[in-house]
Amino acid sequence: MRVPLMAGNWKMHKSVSQASALVQALKESLADVTDREILVCPPFTALYPVAEALKGSNIELGAQNIYPQEEGAYTGEISPPMLLDVGCRYVILGHSERRRHFKETDEFINRKVHLALEHGLRPILCVGETLEQREAGQEVAVVTKQVRECLAGVTGEGMKEVVIAYEPVWAIGTGRTATPEQAQTMHQTIRDVLRGLYGQETAEATRIIYGGSVKPDNVDDLMREPDIDGALVGGASMKAESFARIVRFEK
Ligand code: PEP
Repeated sequence: MRVPLMAGNWKMHKSVSQASALVQALKESLADVTDREILVCPPFTALYPVAEALKGSNIELGAQNIYPQEEGAYTGEISPPMLLDVGCRYVILGHSERRRHFKETDEFINRKVHLALEHGLRPILCVGETLEQREAGQEVAVVTKQVRECLAGVTGEGMKEVVIAYEPVWAIGTGRTATPEQAQTMHQTIRDVLRGLYGQETAEATRIIYGGSVKPDNVDDLMREPDIDGALVGGASMKAESFARIVRFEK
């Protein structure tokens, strides 16, 4: 049984006071939820106050990035121990916005995955094809390569901590969602890749979540698919009412 993971990525949004207000509202409206994991990933500047606000609640904290070094002369960067220190349990790695704007490669993301795991921070590894790649019929090859290269050297034991997020680039922030069938097909493909790498048990235990314009009105259909184990939500996670409805998806 895979417990659904419903995660909000606040990207580069929310001041400390806005983040605190949002998390307060989420805490109140989601206090009774026990059968799914709820996660918010605020920007770095809001992590500490949000961690304080979340104490004793059923909502967990994650960050949106790390640099793959423990400490050192890396001006402007943040390490896994720093995130653990403020109470993060998860970190989003390899988001397509980081791949696109900051030219992150699979090899670089792989280093981050390893360092996160070494420190007990759970990676949410994002993979997904661009529109151009999908139109050229390359989506399976692209996503398979990303999964294999970003997970290179990760053991079966390490995989127990990893969540994979399938996020087709053409669906992120565009209002254009993959259909449940398109998402299911790719999630199944990813699970097949994991089966080849780690065996049946690990493949079945790994959560593969979907991201790309998830909204209150499409989450139920997506979550009905057998290989969709949760959602990574951008835009619709930044308002308490819409994220709460997404968390409360009905199958
Ligand atoms: C995301 O940021 O990972 C994302 C999927 O964004 P949106 O829900 O806005 O498409």
